[in-house]
Order: sequence, then C-alpha cells, then structure tokens
Amino acid sequence: MTTTLSGIQRNLEHVRERIRRAAASADRDPGSIRLIAVSKYMTPAHITCAMAAGQHVFGENTVQDALTKLPLFQDPQNEWHFIGHLQTNKARHIPGNFAWLHTLDSLKLARTLARHAEATGRHLRVLIQVNISGDPDKFGLAPAAVAGFADTFLDAGLSGISLHGLMTIGARGINESARRREFVRLRELGDACAARLGPAHFTELSMGMSHDYEIAISEGATMVRIGNAIFGPRPQRHT
Ligand SMILES: *Cc1c(COP(=O)(O)O)cnc(C)c1O
Repeated sequence: MTTTLSGIQRNLEHVRERIRRAAASADRDPGSIRLIAVSKYMTPAHITCAMAAGQHVFGENTVQDALTKLPLFQDPQNEWHFIGHLQTNKARHIPGNFAWLHTLDSLKLARTLARHAEATGRHLRVLIQVNISGDPDKFGLAPAAVAGFADTFLDAGLSGISLHGLMTIGARGINESARRREFVRLRELGDACAARLGPAHFTELSMGMSHDYEIAISEGATMVRIGNAIFGPRPQRHT
C-alpha cells in the first residue's frame, strides 16, 4: 500500500468537505453526521496517520483483525465501531473494545453481548442490521421483521447494551436511484419503529460507504462508514 500521511490527510479533508456539502444541500447540520473511518485490513500506521489528521472514530469488521490493533490505541477519545458480522462465540470481545456494534441480528447475540457488557462494566450501543435489498447473501433482518425484533429486544430489558437505530449495507452494482430507494426504505423503517417503540431507540441510521455516502446523507444517514475514500484501496485479497 502506498498511502501516505499526507495522502490520508488529504483524503480525510476531501471526505469531510463533501459531507459538509451534502449536509448543506439537504438542510442538515453536518455535526449530526458521524464519519466512521473504516480501517479494516489497514495497518496501525494508517490509523496513526488518520488520528494525526484529527480522526478518532474508526470501524473494524473482524474480531481477529481488530484485536491486533485496538490495544495500540487505548486513548479514550477514540471511538471504535464493530461493523462486521459477529458470531455469538466472539461476542465477548466486543464490549470493552468497541463502543458501538452495527450488526445486531438475533436475540441470542443481544443476550450474550449484554452479559459480557455487564461483566466488563462497559456499555455497548447497538444498531440492528437490516437486509434492505433482500439479498440472500447478505446478513441482517428482513425489513418486515425489524419492528417485531426491536420490540422483543426492548421487552427483554437487557442492561449493558442499548438500541439506537438501524444499519444497512447497500446492494452492489445498482444505479443511483435504486441506491437512493434503499436508503429511503431504511429511513422509513426507522421512522415506523420510532413511532411504534419510541424515538429514543431509533435516532441513528448507519448507511452509506465510499461510493454512495452523499446520497445516504441526503436521505438521513447519521453515520457513514468510509474506507477506500480515506485509506485508498485495500489489499486485493480482502476486497
Ligand atoms: C468495508 C466496509 C465499509 C467501507 O467500505 P468502502 O467502500 O471502503 O467505503 C463500510 N461498511 C461495512 C460494513 C464494511 O464492511
């Protein structure tokens, strides 16, 4: 990888500027949009560069990769988001290392996370992953199942973790208007859940990646997850 400190700084400035512009054209406060720098497969040196450029919110998608890096960055101003699919048998690594998990998709996982969060005394914020495109190869709950799942989750009264909204990964290779429709559907689903179960649990919409975050912002994203546009292309075997 050839990405340099100045390259990462320049990329970050560029992304931040585009976020500000997308927010302005949607009449939104840019401060209401969290930029998550997706550092999966990037080295600690890449992360250090981004931190030097003022970035403190990062996303990782595998436990084993994250665990080699997170211990090097224990400054409390850093905020780590787990954005990958999580198997229950790895759930113990999340509370304590990560502040947020974007991929809740079962009550079993929720209970396990809650147990470990309580044991470590570190609160975990979660989002429900929604398979908005209905792609059989994608993780996440079907849109029609989300409100019922959230209801069950809230009824369970778990301490140690709390629900804050929805996340989706868009389908690959669709055009801009189809992409926008996916983001609209996630926002509408969030609104419907908020009306039924309480707005406090549905303040966040995690949607939008390097190639479509401006569309996501215009449709209400509060978290955008951006890798390539900040760090450059990932090593080939991982993409
Ligand atoms: C890799 C990844 C991203 C970032 O993708 P880019 O195209 O590099 O911006 C966002 N969200 C999830 C869940 C990812 O796995």
